[in-house]
Amino acid sequence: MPELPEVETVRRGLTRLVGNAKITSVDVYYEKMVSPEADQFKKMLAGKTIERIDRRGKYLLFRFNDDLTMVSHLRMEGKYDVQPDGNPITKHTHVVFHLDDHRDLRYTDTRKFGRMHLLKTGDETKLVSGLKKMGPEPTPETLTVEYMKQIFSKSKKAIKPFLLDQSNIAGLGNIYVDETLWLSRIHPEQPTNTIPEFQIRQLRENIIAEIKRAIEGHGTTVHSFSTAYGEAGEFQNHLMVYGRKGEPCFRCDTPIEKTKVAQRGTHFCPDCQVLRKDPGVTMVLGLTGGIATGKSTVSEFFKAYQIPVIDADKVAREVVEPGTKGLKEIQTTFGWQMIQPDGTLDRHALGTLVFSQPEKLAQLNSITGPLIKKAVVRKLRGYRRRQVPLVIYDAPTLFEAHGAAGMNEIMVVNVPDQVQLQRLMARDHLSKKEALERINAQMPLAEKVKRADVVIDNSDSVDKTKAQVVRWLNEAGFGSLITDKSN
Ligand SMILES: [Zn+2]
Repeated sequence: MPELPEVETVRRGLTRLVGNAKITSVDVYYEKMVSPEADQFKKMLAGKTIERIDRRGKYLLFRFNDDLTMVSHLRMEGKYDVQPDGNPITKHTHVVFHLDDHRDLRYTDTRKFGRMHLLKTGDETKLVSGLKKMGPEPTPETLTVEYMKQIFSKSKKAIKPFLLDQSNIAGLGNIYVDETLWLSRIHPEQPTNTIPEFQIRQLRENIIAEIKRAIEGHGTTVHSFSTAYGEAGEFQNHLMVYGRKGEPCFRCDTPIEKTKVAQRGTHFCPDCQVLRKDPGVTMVLGLTGGIATGKSTVSEFFKAYQIPVIDADKVAREVVEPGTKGLKEIQTTFGWQMIQPDGTLDRHALGTLVFSQPEKLAQLNSITGPLIKKAVVRKLRGYRRRQVPLVIYDAPTLFEAHGAAGMNEIMVVNVPDQVQLQRLMARDHLSKKEALERINAQMPLAEKVKRADVVIDNSDSVDKTKAQVVRWLNEAGFGSLITDKSN
């Protein structure tokens, strides 16, 4: 079934093809498809000019002169195309609009579910039940945070069917609901009224951005969909979760699952989108980057605003302190050489060992990873209990250590490769070869950027970097945490 972006693509295509075209006559081969009844329908349209084509949700609104509007819904398989007059019609051609320039606007529909209503312009919102109570269009101007907060608070329904209900938000179909829920880390069965404000804001941003991207990419190709130009939609190549059952999640690598929610095939990541009894109000922002890209600079900005930062490196040190299970396992795996005479970990020896050998690094991560995770979960539980609005999880190897799934959003601090190399060489007094070895031991920075929700460019001045952090805080709804408003 075409979704809003596809219908918008059809609208734009048709506007270019038949905008201002004049109809000479109409043939109706399947009378149930039109209203009023076929003879009247034909009579009313003869001699009319298509002045404009509008869209509301998944409805196309053909505007004619003399205050006439034709409301058209493509339903499952409906399609418009423009052909030279006299081309043979097919058994699926149900309505033909003959134009005065020897072209036809033809409507075909293998399932015959599409409908066309001709009425007085303005009456569509009174007479077409789907348009009567349609929710706002997903644009920044029409879909407001306040509106979403209000409707979300009133529904105990699972979020997926809630979003599919056109009376809440216009034009969201199965694919885009799955995509935006994945982007916002919300389980499709999460009761709508339990979703906290920060997630409502994320969902809103994602819905608006996703629909915009999809329209720019000419919509998704599903089943028989194609645009009025006959070109296939391109957006299918950019789907993050829909249709990816069994494939690794683009964020956390866990295989995507497919289930049924409200009778609809539903794709989600079981690790990123966890069904929660009480999601709480605390948003966890994962902060990561490459070595020497300036992650700690960004971390300091958050700390300066009294926003709690959980430092994964610090937690990592805590879990290998003398007497811990972590230190014992490191000794068993890498040998007694890793332990100093005073019983503490020899970080230098371990660092030298793992940074030149990726498989050793992976081995180390598999020891410390689960211990760090447990400690972090304990710390987060404390913040959630105290209803702290925002917590930063500062972790250089967030993705490598499988920490991505636990985050509500991920910020990556990025600089160009050359800048990273130079900064690392200067900071740690390393040769080019040594610096490259350390950089290459991590996931490529470009891959981290691809997995990020927000990317901070730290290649310019400190002030410019800070301005990006402040902007993010404002846009994510944490503007009240900014204490130096002059920035
Ligand atoms: Zn995932």
